[in-house]
Amino acid sequence: MSRRRKKCRCCGELFLPCAQTYRQQITCDKEPCRTWRRRRVQMDWRIKNIGYDESRGAKLAQWRAAHPQYWREWRAQHPGYVERNRQGQKWRDATKRGVLAKQNEWTRFTDGKYRGMILAKQNDMARSGVT
Ligand SMILES: [Zn+2]
Repeated sequence: MSRRRKKCRCCGELFLPCAQTYRQQITCDKEPCRTWRRRRVQMDWRIKNIGYDESRGAKLAQWRAAHPQYWREWRAQHPGYVERNRQGQKWRDATKRGVLAKQNEWTRFTDGKYRGMILAKQNDMARSGVT
């Protein structure tokens, strides 16, 4: 059986899917399309598992209380990471303040759309008394 080409759901171009994952594969193997697909899968997962962060947050807080020096020591052992993260945080803060106007339109659109869906689901759960 010969494989047929599929249309990438991100860029719309035709591509030849991998034989083993023909049915699942919805995007081509270009990096922006793969990033888009991963982002989508992660956002869908968050919507499906809406209470995950809260329950995980409580567990993490418990663990941090039991290991108060862990992150201080870890940062001392990984100065490269600390510096990289510091630069990244400066960038993220600047983006948030609107100093850097360049933002990907598509990212903004999907973020807004999914954030709206998450809020709607949380409201539904609150109304039905699930949480
Ligand atoms: Zn594509």
